[in-house]
Amino acid sequence: MYCKNCGEQLNDNQVICVKCGVKVGDGSHYCSNCGKEITPNAEVCMNCGVSAKKSKEYLNGQDKIVLILVCIFLGGFGIHNFIMGETKRGIFRIIMSFFCGLGTIFALIDLVKIATDTYVVDHDKLI
Ligand SMILES: [Zn+2]
Ligand SMILES: [Zn+2]
Repeated sequence: MYCKNCGEQLNDNQVICVKCGVKVGDGSHYCSNCGKEITPNAEVCMNCGVSAKKSKEYLNGQDKIVLILVCIFLGGFGIHNFIMGETKRGIFRIIMSFFCGLGTIFALIDLVKIATDTYVVDHDKLI
């Protein structure tokens, strides 16, 4: 297994890459299976054919169906964001829902992204 950010070889129980400090599974520049450089956001690795996008870290390791259901029923309050570890985003969604009712619109956008596998988990972004 290789660091997806810098291509350094990692052993299986490593949590972060000691070379670049990025969490294992994060990054999109190298294939996690063979370590070869790939184009960012490529669907599959052209070298080994392994899916480059949907690692088990995808959506913070959460089940896609569960996230979609949570998004439909509780998305306006950012509950799906909390589930994926996006605390800042979740809090921002709650505020948005209470003050301007916009949380539902964001939830709809998230729903489409989760359903089409284009959602990017980001623990630091508000929107
Ligand atoms: Zn690295
Ligand atoms: Zn590969």
